[in-house]
Amino acid sequence: MKTPPCPICHKTTNAVVLNENFFGYLSGTFFPIFSCKDCKHQYTDLTTNVETLYEKIYAKTAPGYERYYRYAQEVLTDKNPLLYLSSQEAAYYPIYNFLKNKKGLNVLEVGSGLGYTTYAVNQSGNTCTGIDISADAVEKANKRFGKHFHTATLDGFKKQSEEKFDLIIATELIEHLQDPTQFVGEAETLLKPGGTLLITTPNKCFYPSDAVWQTDLPPVHFQWFSPQSLQKLGEKVGLTYAEVSYQNSHIRQNTLLEWFYWRKPHYTNHQLFEESAPTVVKRSMIANIIKTIAESSLVMSLCNAYYKKANSRNFPITAGLFQKAANE
Ligand SMILES: [Zn+2]
Repeated sequence: MKTPPCPICHKTTNAVVLNENFFGYLSGTFFPIFSCKDCKHQYTDLTTNVETLYEKIYAKTAPGYERYYRYAQEVLTDKNPLLYLSSQEAAYYPIYNFLKNKKGLNVLEVGSGLGYTTYAVNQSGNTCTGIDISADAVEKANKRFGKHFHTATLDGFKKQSEEKFDLIIATELIEHLQDPTQFVGEAETLLKPGGTLLITTPNKCFYPSDAVWQTDLPPVHFQWFSPQSLQKLGEKVGLTYAEVSYQNSHIRQNTLLEWFYWRKPHYTNHQLFEESAPTVVKRSMIANIIKTIAESSLVMSLCNAYYKKANSRNFPITAGLFQKAANE
C-alpha cells in the first residue's frame, strides 16, 4: 500500500500504515489509517468523497448528537451561557476562559451548527457571527437566536465579506476536514493584526501511544491530531501557538478514570452508523453507578488533581490559541 505523506509535515519518510482496513462510519466500509512518526498525527485517505455521507448523517439524528439540541434549548434560559456550555463539554471551556474578561471583540464562529455557541458569545458582551455549511442548521439558528448566521464555507465567506475579526473559533471542526492547512490559512487572512484563532480537537496523546483511531470513525473524522501536530498546523501559516490548559476547567469529567478506561482499544464504543438502525452502546447499571460515584465532586477533584499532576498536558481535548502578529 502506498503511504500518502503526512498532511501536516508533508514528509513521506515519517509516514507509516497503521491499519490497511479499519472500520468506517458507515457499516461495511473500510479505510486505511496512517500515522506520522514525527508529529504523532493520524490520518485516513484524504481523497475520500464525503458528499453523500453528511446527507446520510443529517437525514437521521446520528447517535451522540442529540446533546446539541439540548444545549440550543438550555443556553436560552441560562444567565451565563458560555459558562453553562463550558461546564457541559470540554471543547467550550477555552472560549469561556478566553472571553471571560473581554468585551467588544468581533468574533467569527466557523461550524456554528445549531448556533448556541455564537449566541453565548453574543451574550458575553462581544459580537459574534456564525457560519456553517448546513443551510438547515443555519435556518434553525437564525430562527432561534436572531440573524447572526450565514450558510457558507470559510472560503466562501471570505469572498463575500470584507470583515476582519479579533477572534475566530473552530471547536471540534478541523478533524472533519480534508485540508486543515487550507482552513487555518484562510482563517489567518480573516484575522485582524493581533487577532486570535481558537481551535479545539480530540487529543490523540490522551490515548496510549499505540492507539489506532480511537476517535469518530473515518471518513467523519479525517484527522486525529496530537498537540504537536496542532501546533505545527498553525505555525505553517505563520501563527504563534499557545496550548490551552484545562487545569482550572470546571468540566464534569473524571480524567483519571477516563485515562484508565481508554488504556485498551474501544472500537465497538464508536458511533458506527448503520444504514438501517444506529448502534447505541448502553452502559450497564453497575457502570452507571460507578460513573455517578466517579463524577461526584469529591472523587472527581481528587482524581483530577492527581492525574493533572501526573501528566498536565494530557486531556481528551487539545486546544490551541493561534496568534497573528500585531505589527503588519
Ligand atoms: Zn507529521
